[in-house]
Amino acid sequence: MNQTAKIIHQAKKENRKALLEPEAKTICAEYGIPVNKFQLAKTEKEASTYADEIGYPIVLKIVSPDIIHKSDAGGVKVNLKNTQEVAAAYKQIIENAKKYKADAKIAGVLVQEMAPQSTEVIVGAIKDPQFGQTVMFGLGGIFVELLKDVNFRVAPITVEDAKEMITQLKAYPLLNGYRNTPPADIDALVAILCSVSRLVMENPEIKELDLNPVMAYPKGAKTVDARIILE
Ligand code: ADP
Ligand code: MG
Repeated sequence: MNQTAKIIHQAKKENRKALLEPEAKTICAEYGIPVNKFQLAKTEKEASTYADEIGYPIVLKIVSPDIIHKSDAGGVKVNLKNTQEVAAAYKQIIENAKKYKADAKIAGVLVQEMAPQSTEVIVGAIKDPQFGQTVMFGLGGIFVELLKDVNFRVAPITVEDAKEMITQLKAYPLLNGYRNTPPADIDALVAILCSVSRLVMENPEIKELDLNPVMAYPKGAKTVDARIILE
């Protein structure tokens, strides 16, 4: 687990609690959690080059240790279809970030593959003062925020635990196929939950982890946003 240890070590050295999205995604990838392709661009020109390499449509996001909720800062632009749109979005994101927080440190702009729309789920972990590392699963948007329809288990979890966390949600029928929506790949979500459990067990300095959202597909799943907070 080379990259993970290195990234955590570096953040500690810089006295940084919140890992940046590319750092969190690199850690996820090392633990076998599927993430979209990404490259950190430091200039508009780099952003265009990476976008051409990754392929359109593209998503751009602000990468700043001072901006945790990127959308709130106008720091996420989705569905960019060509170089011109990428260049314009790059400028806009930097401008928005400065408006949001004048002295925000900006590490760059993350150029990433746009994952197809699908049912969005949330996988999380939190270090409970009493129970220790605990993993969480829920559906995205109102299901978590409004209805609090989420399930928790103390880590480490088994495959059976992970399955229960998913199938015992009130909103589970939404994942199990309804009307024209095909069922989501539950095994892929189970695998992500088990990997997250292993990740937080092996790295006790992780205080919070948030994969929000993970796109759940009929075949496979993909994490498009990852946040890790250290103690
Ligand atoms: P925030 O820091 O505001 O949570 P996110 O990275 O989650 O920022 O982006 C906001 C929303 O944009 C996500 O909830 C998701 O719906 C969409 N999104 C972000 N990245 C991608 C991507 N790579 N592919 C598809 N949709 C994305
Ligand atoms: Mg998010």
